[in-house]
Amino acid sequence: MRATHRVTTSSPRWDVVVVGAGPAGSATALQLARAGARVLLLDRARFPREKPCSEYLSPESTRVLERLGTDVLSAVAAAAPAHLTGMKVVAPSGAGVVGRFETFSFALPRTRFDTILRNAAAAAGAEVREGVKVQELIYEGGAVAGVVTRDMGLGARDTYRSRIVVGADGLRSVVARRLGPVVRTAPYRIAFTAHVAGVHDVHDLGEMHVGRPGYVGLGPIGDGVTTVALVVPLAEARRGERFFAELNRFPGVAGRFDARRVVRRVLATGPFARWSRRVVAGGGGALLVGDAADFFDPFTGQGIYSALRGAELAAAAILDTLATGASLQPYARARRREFAGKWLLERMIGIAVGWPALVERVVGRLMRRPELADLLVRATGNCIPARAVLTPRVLTGLVL
Ligand SMILES: Cc1cc2nc3c(=O)[nH]c(=O)nc-3n(C[C@H](O)[C@H](O)[C@H](O)COP(=O)(O)OP(=O)(O)OC[C@H]3O[C@@H](n4cnc5c(N)ncnc54)[C@H](O)[C@@H]3O)c2cc1C
Repeated sequence: MRATHRVTTSSPRWDVVVVGAGPAGSATALQLARAGARVLLLDRARFPREKPCSEYLSPESTRVLERLGTDVLSAVAAAAPAHLTGMKVVAPSGAGVVGRFETFSFALPRTRFDTILRNAAAAAGAEVREGVKVQELIYEGGAVAGVVTRDMGLGARDTYRSRIVVGADGLRSVVARRLGPVVRTAPYRIAFTAHVAGVHDVHDLGEMHVGRPGYVGLGPIGDGVTTVALVVPLAEARRGERFFAELNRFPGVAGRFDARRVVRRVLATGPFARWSRRVVAGGGGALLVGDAADFFDPFTGQGIYSALRGAELAAAAILDTLATGASLQPYARARRREFAGKWLLERMIGIAVGWPALVERVVGRLMRRPELADLLVRATGNCIPARAVLTPRVLTGLVL
């Protein structure tokens, strides 16, 4: 049963406690602190910390980073020598098609990217505490009013009271689980990611190789290093133990790697396809952002953009609530308006990649219709609205 803690003391020291200093949490904290709110940003990890990811920022992320501050954008640009100009999708037969962005996207290790954002939040005035794990929520008058934490080193428990709690604690969010039901659906997939040096034929493209079963995503992250993700059905998770042997199953990947050149160990994460029924909950005292709110599948590489854009929507709603006492509910509506098309498109693609014959067919069509490949890649890169793809003309063009 869910533990709730009641406290009845004076007004809280913090306006907002943000749980999790990944892109969603740090971007939310940064905007709130810059607007003058008293913000506490907590993370159980110590930065720089690893995050299993393909580490590509979809092109539209650049605009959000610019809005977060030209200093933030320039720090990311300086730390990201790799630029991607498009994505290559390779079918199980080895046939491949390239779709190009109109611009380019940054790709860089999450250790660097997330640390830049965490530092920017601190510079904006958020107080950051690392090595602090949130375990429970506290309630006051029926609404969430803070968190209970455990120090990861000393084990000491603490209570932090706030007017609002933001759950930005990622895929397995404790805050989301404490607030209510988290829905999990098929496809049940798990990912293994590594950094490998000296991979052959890696240029300015992200690559997605679909196989039977699963898929591989890879792309450059600078300094001659490639980030490689193997995603397989949860039921076949043992394939992750043979990471390099598994990569050789994919015709467009086989033979390009030297297993001795791994520069970062293999990290595992999953299963995905989970989302919270309500992103504003806890009696109106809490909201969820980033993967804590929803994450479907890594194939389309939209998670970081969603985290950053979601943070903008969350910060706007929170500032309004702090200033006027208004409900946080407009945040839930803003997310639906912003992400409904993306949710549909990523689900269609995420499910389709489980059907190798369908992928073969779509890649074949895209090879003959390069303008559709560009359209698809730009929609998943968030450069154009997802609805540009979700038309009968485009959808039939992809399969007929
Ligand atoms: C295999 C794979 C490949 C991917 N590739 C891409 C890609 O190329 N491009 C892209 O845009 N997206 C990609 N994604 C998705 C992307 O990684 C996520 O969507 C993104 O990291 C979400 O950011 P976040 O801030 O919500 O969560 P996270 O980045 O997961 O951050 C959550 C933070 O919360 C902290 N935390 C967790 N629990 C607690 C707790 N109880 N108390 C305190 N702190 C806590 C964690 O330490 C962490 O720092 C990929 C995902 C996977 C699995």
